[in-house]
Amino acid sequence: MRVLVLNSGSSSVKFRLLDPEDPAYLVNGIIERIGESGSRIRVFFDDEEIEHVTDIPDHKAGVIAAFALLSESGHDPRHSNIVTVGHRVVMGGDLFTKPVVVTDKVLDAIRELSYLAPLHNPANADGIAAVRIALPDIPQVAVFDTAFFADLPEPSRTYAIDREVATRYGVRRYGFHGTSHDYVSHRVAEFLDRPYESLRQIVLHLGNGASASAIAEGRAVDTSMGMTPMQGLVMGTRSGDIDPGVMTYLSRAAEMDATDLDHLLNRKSGLRGLCGHNDFRELTDLVEAGDPDAVLAYEVYLHRLRMYIGGYLMLLGGADTITFTAGVGENAPKMRADALSGLEWFGIEIDPERNALRSKQPRIISTDSSRVTVLVVPTDEELLIARAALSVTQ
Ligand code: AMP
Repeated sequence: MRVLVLNSGSSSVKFRLLDPEDPAYLVNGIIERIGESGSRIRVFFDDEEIEHVTDIPDHKAGVIAAFALLSESGHDPRHSNIVTVGHRVVMGGDLFTKPVVVTDKVLDAIRELSYLAPLHNPANADGIAAVRIALPDIPQVAVFDTAFFADLPEPSRTYAIDREVATRYGVRRYGFHGTSHDYVSHRVAEFLDRPYESLRQIVLHLGNGASASAIAEGRAVDTSMGMTPMQGLVMGTRSGDIDPGVMTYLSRAAEMDATDLDHLLNRKSGLRGLCGHNDFRELTDLVEAGDPDAVLAYEVYLHRLRMYIGGYLMLLGGADTITFTAGVGENAPKMRADALSGLEWFGIEIDPERNALRSKQPRIISTDSSRVTVLVVPTDEELLIARAALSVTQ
């Protein structure tokens, strides 16, 4: 029983063909630069890689090219025993709080939610529409990035603005990276052999995008991303939290309109805005070399992260676990140590040797005497999407 998982971004599509029962079976692929010059598509399988550079004007063409390349690699999706296709959809709004089988009505609703996620939902919908044409007899399932946070408590999801404006325009905290927070927090409970509901968890998803969540009694009680994925932690290219007054100030003083501000906060901010680099490896090298802009960027990143960890310790009344995940969280031991340094008073003690260990497996990096268990757990959003897709179709 195989599942195809698609994660469509505005100019890229990541895809994976997997068998949830057989971790050894894995075919990965990525289509990049859709709608731009020099689009390329790559498929990875059994330590091999095939790459094509070809014009891919839109998502439909991307899916056709991906299927052709999968066939070339011996994994034609039409003959690979695929029982369902799972799609990551960024915004489910108030409509979708669970995975759903895609019908015409569901696809229309995903498009209608584009007003809340203009960069993501149209791409997600285009990806789904293209696969429905290519595999018309196989059920497609939409898995929403916001769903894990659909049940946030009212005080956490509510912004303190005019209620009428907020209600009319759907302005509230939705949260994102839900599939990752969901997968990782459940994996922590499984790894520690503790009931999910019994744990007070802080999960730090630190990748190019970054978000934190606080989980207690089996549900998310807060997350750092908001109505859009711009709020919260300092990210690769996104600002995270910023005084909302800066927007009105820049619109007047620098005559920036909504598009300019969106570009500034999404693309020219975060680590890249501060030091010109959004890749954490490059940042780390520059910090080690003593580059002052990189050192400041690193310190701003840590300052914000520590503030969220502190806030969540307060909200949860102390934590049982703190877990690092995603590209930076899984691979940057110095950042992990710096993020949690000097917190012995809170019962948080990192073991330097455990923290330095590199592994693709979940692991504990705190000392045996640490009251809070600190972990590194590799995220696997595609596996969660595949399981969710199977759960509603089988
Ligand atoms: P993600 O969005 O989860 O794919 O994470 C991407 C981020 O992870 C990028 O900023 C990478 O620089 C960072 N990353 C990946 N590998 C490493 C590594 N070995 N050390 C530090 N950062 C890394």
